[in-house]
Amino acid sequence: MTTSAYEIIDHNYDIVVVGAGGAGLRAALGMTMAGLKTACLTKVFPTRSHTVAAQGGIGAALGNMAEDHWEWHMFDTVKGSDWLGDQDAIEYMCRNAVPAIYELEHFGVPFSRTEAGRIYQRPFGGHMRDFGQAPVQRACAAADRTGHAILHTLYQQCLRRDVEFFVEYVVLDLIMDEEGECRGIVAWNLDDGTIHRIRSHKTVLATGGYGRAYFSCTSAHTCTGDGNAMVARAGLPLQDHEFVQFHPTGMYGSGVLITEGARGEGGYLTNSEGERFMERYAPTAKDLASRDVVSRAMTIEMLEGRGVGESGEAIHLHLEHLGADILADRLPGITESARIFSGVDAAAEPVPVLPTVHYNMGGIPTNVHGEVLRPSAGDPDAVVPGLMAIGECACVSVHGANRLGTNSLLDIVVFGRAAAIRAEETIKKRAPHRPLPKGVSSRILDRFDKMRHADGDERGADIRLAMQRTMQKKAAVFRTSELMAQGIEEIEAINRRLADIKVSDRSLIWNSDLVEALELENLMLCARATLHSAAARTESRGAHAHGDFPERDDENWMKHSLSWFDADGKLSLDYRPVHTYTLTDEVDYIPPAKRVY
Ligand SMILES: Cc1cc2nc3c(=O)[nH]c(=O)nc-3n(C[C@H](O)[C@H](O)[C@H](O)COP(=O)(O)OP(=O)(O)OC[C@H]3O[C@@H](n4cnc5c(N)ncnc54)[C@H](O)[C@@H]3O)c2cc1C
Repeated sequence: MTTSAYEIIDHNYDIVVVGAGGAGLRAALGMTMAGLKTACLTKVFPTRSHTVAAQGGIGAALGNMAEDHWEWHMFDTVKGSDWLGDQDAIEYMCRNAVPAIYELEHFGVPFSRTEAGRIYQRPFGGHMRDFGQAPVQRACAAADRTGHAILHTLYQQCLRRDVEFFVEYVVLDLIMDEEGECRGIVAWNLDDGTIHRIRSHKTVLATGGYGRAYFSCTSAHTCTGDGNAMVARAGLPLQDHEFVQFHPTGMYGSGVLITEGARGEGGYLTNSEGERFMERYAPTAKDLASRDVVSRAMTIEMLEGRGVGESGEAIHLHLEHLGADILADRLPGITESARIFSGVDAAAEPVPVLPTVHYNMGGIPTNVHGEVLRPSAGDPDAVVPGLMAIGECACVSVHGANRLGTNSLLDIVVFGRAAAIRAEETIKKRAPHRPLPKGVSSRILDRFDKMRHADGDERGADIRLAMQRTMQKKAAVFRTSELMAQGIEEIEAINRRLADIKVSDRSLIWNSDLVEALELENLMLCARATLHSAAARTESRGAHAHGDFPERDDENWMKHSLSWFDADGKLSLDYRPVHTYTLTDEVDYIPPAKRVY
């Protein structure tokens, strides 16, 4: 089939949102409410987006349990980011957190309640009172199913407002014109095999993370970095991909997450000697230090021979002392998961856990309005016309080198809302669309068609496994120059194997072989950006722990990495400055300091 043989169905919208996780739904809801003709596309049913799996909570200084202030939240987020976060963006997020939660409450999110009927809040790693003095209860929770509660509520609100969904459509690429403006997207409808071209005044990417580049992760199988890869293919850079968060408590074996809220409720970690080792690594916050700190401490314990289990490759998480009632009330989901995935009764014995890939701090660089950046030497904050990105695929950057728990659910609703506000300000409703330049969609379809008919000797599953193994070993909790150099060599060789992939199913309807091949191509770009930017960063900061350069180096490395891909897929690195200013004069810039918990 030549590409001209594909039947293309055209649509015109004011705005198109790619992704129906928390970020995409919050944006699409706001845009539809503003009267913009909005399409929302998703490759899985909206309520199956990974947001549904979020457990522990969403951060906001409501002060329902004890005194709290958004300025304290801001301080913790800056410190958690290891000073790589942009402080103007962090101010925006923490300041808007409180109204964002009340808005969710009014939308109908069924939060857990205190005796007095207020939203229940639990402690979470790195969230402290009084500028870092002692843990504070800031995570607003709906039991241990907070993401489920938020996603379902947002979806229902979207239905109520008649957001136009395109469900089980795989977006293939962005339509970019010669001037570098994004003019819409091309998508493939899995259900009937048709190709759709949607023209829009703005395109919003909300495609989530790329956890599946690794062998063991807590993310859904859909987290394949599609949006990041579309941006890379459009000749735009990806930012800070070296910063990959390992969550301390993935269940040994399955990688299924046990929320940090479990430690927030009083759970703690021990090594094979029964020692509560976090007291040595983080005397104040202990088990509630930030994730990079706890994951590193656990890894050191295991490397020094104090891991538990036959292989010594796990650590014990104790919840049994909390009692069956608290577990049933506050942590029902993880109690069930421990039984199913580890065969452990959490009310009676410890759960074996280990650090597991969980979140991507890096992504598509944006400003606080969700507008995508195309940094240049003259203007590091230049905006790409027509293109926005929000949620885990974006890098605003509010999480810098390490995200605090609860700050991602917050990020998706705050910046989903911000994107809607910006769209309303900048789009003229129902304005006619200029004609598209010739050939833009056939370029996209050529790539699709080539993959569909790929007839090489390599199975996609083998290439994917090789990539995941390399990432797991060479871009892990601890990295060294030697490991990362090997990692680059390996990943480049694995990438070359993609040219020889075989797709065995040629069908256009429910062809999972083809979907996975396209996703693999996307994951590979993300993985390469991660390894290359990691190897270049000769310091340790947040989640990037470099064995040969154990200290943070603010003089040389307080900057965001940019990975650019040329038309042949060759990668080059560049940098842009961290914003060392706040958004308003109401708070001062927080200067770098040593990070102690
Ligand atoms: C197990 C787990 C627990 C977590 N717990 C918490 C927590 O307690 N608190 C917290 O703050 N954070 C938590 N996080 C992180 C947080 O949940 C995520 O970062 C956040 O939900 C991501 O939302 P999103 O909308 O950006 O992406 P997602 O929810 O991943 O949604 C992505 C959407 O994009 C669509 N999509 C992707 N590619 C394409 C394509 N090519 N074509 C069409 N559609 C596409 C998908 O179909 C989906 O609808 C957790 C994460 C995990 C994995």
